[in-house]
This record gives sequence, C-alpha cells and structure tokens, in this order.
Amino acid sequence: MARPYTLPPLPYAEDALAPVISSQTLGFHHGKHHKTYVETLNKLVAGTEFEGQPLEAIIAATAGNASSTAIFNNAAQSWNHAFYWQCMKAKGGGKPQGAIAARIDAAFGSYDDFKKAFAEAAVTQFGSGWAWLVVENDSLKVVKTGNAEVPFTKGMTPLLTIDVWEHAYYLDYQNRRADHVNAVIDKLLNWQFAADNLANVGSVKGSQAAMAH
Ligand code: MN
Repeated sequence: MARPYTLPPLPYAEDALAPVISSQTLGFHHGKHHKTYVETLNKLVAGTEFEGQPLEAIIAATAGNASSTAIFNNAAQSWNHAFYWQCMKAKGGGKPQGAIAARIDAAFGSYDDFKKAFAEAAVTQFGSGWAWLVVENDSLKVVKTGNAEVPFTKGMTPLLTIDVWEHAYYLDYQNRRADHVNAVIDKLLNWQFAADNLANVGSVKGSQAAMAH
C-alpha cells in the first residue's frame, strides 16, 4: 500500500493570526476541515490508480470528470488548504515591496486597484470557493473559483489565495465576509510566499520572454 497523504502542519501557531483569524477558527479549519479532506482522500483512493500519486496529478486527472468528483473535491481541497496556510503570516498584508509590487502595478494600475479587485472576487464568489491572485500568460490576474476548483487545471499558476468558504470566517465574522477578506488582505497576506511563487514561474517564462525580445 502506498504511503497515505498526511495533514501538513500549520506553518505558524494556531493563535499566530489572531485577532484577524482566531485560534478557534484556525483549530477547526486546519484540525477538522482540512484534516477531513485528507482522511477522506485516503479512503477514496485506496486501491485505485490514484493511490500514491501527487495531489497535483490526481487533481489534473479528475478535474471535470463526473465519475471521480469526490476524489477531485478532496484532493483539490487538500491542495488548496496546504497552499492557503502559506498565503498568510502574522504581521503580513498591506502593500508588497520589490519586484512583485511592480508586477501588481503593471497588471492592476496600483496596489489599491489590486486590493479592490481581489476583495471583490472574494466577496462576490457566490457560496463556497476561493479568490486567487494568479499568473496567466505572464500576466497577473485575479480570479475566483467555486467549491474545490483550482486555477492550475486551467493553465493559471496560483500566487495567493483567500478561502471564502464560511468555515474560514464564520466563528469570527458570522456573515460579514467582506470584513474578514479586507482584514486578511490588510494584515495577513504573505507577499514573500507570492513572490517566491512568481519567481518559480519566472525561471521558465522569464527566459522565454528574454529570448523573444
Ligand atoms: Mn477551508
């Protein structure tokens, strides 16, 4: 039997993001919701062709396939949450510095315009889902996805995400999703993580662009 998927630890203490996200919310979100996606995935893939495959491979193979919706949902939610925890840090948020700041200005006009677009995507995602900052064709874009959907099955590379399922904020903000989203953007976003993700894209695309000039 292949090694089971395991719940990755939070990259910070459960109370590190308070008061924007309480330790109670992080405890339930990571220790119950994320854990259940991982455990359910292990049960669903046991004895199938997917057992032991990287999450990204399972997601790519099952996206849009009605006969493997449950495997897709649990693999994608396992991946999404592992990515999401890294998108936040204590004393994060606000305007980024360095190369990514110039890319934000180039794509959106200004940091304030980016913030407006990112918050709007998060607030207007109807029902459960995710808001994302992505790279597509070497341009930064904001997109939103429903339920477990991930941008990389559509050729977009994620840089940052905000979880807008109610379980991400309901204990702290009840129905005030916009307040939660704005607080995450202003105080928690991990721009270093986004810059690292962007640099990894650039190592391939950047050299191609340089040759094209
Ligand atoms: Mn979640």
